[in-house]
Amino acid sequence: MDIHEYQAKELLTRFGVNIPRGGIAYSPEQAVYRASELSGEKWVVKAQIHSGARGKAGGVRICSSEEELSEAASWMLGRKLVTHQTGPQGKLVSRLYIEEATTIAQEIYLAFVMDRTEERVMVVASAQGGMEIEDISANEPDSIIRSVVDPAVGMQAFQAREIAFSLGLDPALIPQAVKTITGCYKLMEEMDANMVEINPLVVTASGEIVALDGKLSFDDNALFRHPEISELRDKSQEDPRETFAGDRGLNYIGLDGEIGCIVNGAGLAMATLDMIKMAGGDPANFLDVGGGASPDRVLMSFKAVLNDKNVEAILVNIFAGINRCDWIAEGVIRAVKELELTMPLVVRLSGTNVDEGRKLIAESGLNIQTAETLADAAELVVGAWKSARAN
Ligand code: GDP
Ligand code: MN
Repeated sequence: MDIHEYQAKELLTRFGVNIPRGGIAYSPEQAVYRASELSGEKWVVKAQIHSGARGKAGGVRICSSEEELSEAASWMLGRKLVTHQTGPQGKLVSRLYIEEATTIAQEIYLAFVMDRTEERVMVVASAQGGMEIEDISANEPDSIIRSVVDPAVGMQAFQAREIAFSLGLDPALIPQAVKTITGCYKLMEEMDANMVEINPLVVTASGEIVALDGKLSFDDNALFRHPEISELRDKSQEDPRETFAGDRGLNYIGLDGEIGCIVNGAGLAMATLDMIKMAGGDPANFLDVGGGASPDRVLMSFKAVLNDKNVEAILVNIFAGINRCDWIAEGVIRAVKELELTMPLVVRLSGTNVDEGRKLIAESGLNIQTAETLADAAELVVGAWKSARAN
């Protein structure tokens, strides 16, 4: 789960990282008022969306008057800001963060990520901050410092000092840099974050180290340990299809294609996506209904799949062990009737109570195509989808 920049910054300060003073605003008037509460003559208006690269998209503006503040705030609020990370649909800006502007002497990149090969937290840093890490690795690959943390002892002061020195920081800044680096690591460990990224971490003109941006991502499976983090969830920033399914306890991931999938078991669901691709189609989603799925749960799965307006055909693929094919069939029949489904639907049932399940579907009199194997089912649904499209 991701959180907003201002929320990330509040957490970062708790762990000893310096941030500029700032406040949240929901209207242009409030933006002006927030600025008046802060010292200085320049302020930064920052769109709060779950995305980086806001600066290039107009979502970060330095202002030096009430008029500019108000104008920047009006432009951002209510807008779907499109950055190269959001996709073409963009993300809705409904809050702004107003900060006192910082005079930058140097921009640093600092991130903590999970390194899957090392199976440890890795610190990634560069003295060429400000640009995205992809651009740093393309343009300045030699500037990237990598340092793996031993989980048995955590981030040690000497290791943080080593990173700070590798960044070429002035010796006078080393203690502050060490405090920042160890603070970020502590946050990551204590709060079960997957990623901490500060870009840019800056050295200010007055010789301070300050986090100008902050991006935190948390491990969903550990959120139960951190109710105060769970509360920060902003569903308006998430894929609405996934929010709908997630709220109903379904294991769903949205994709870009047209063939909706309802499958039991994550492995079989993945294999089904591959088979659809091989048959020349594109899956619209991953959905694992789980074991012992009731007719109600199957109906709910159809609702989740159809919530995606790109879906033009559906494949149900069940290899029942704990599941029961008759329950699945009952759910499928209810879905076709209650949701008045007219698009092509292919059902492949196998395993427990398969004869009962197939009988229910055959006797339903509904327009449901059936298949024996996964390969046949994938061919059938892609074929049906193509001919439905042609008509
Ligand atoms: P992002 O584009 O979503 O990563 O948003 P950032 O918070 O990183 O802001 C984008 C860029 O705006 C930063 O890389 C800085 O160069 C610049 N910026 C942000 N805040 C300030 C500030 O207080 N003073 C100055 N001079 N530049 C800032
Ligand atoms: Mn940034």
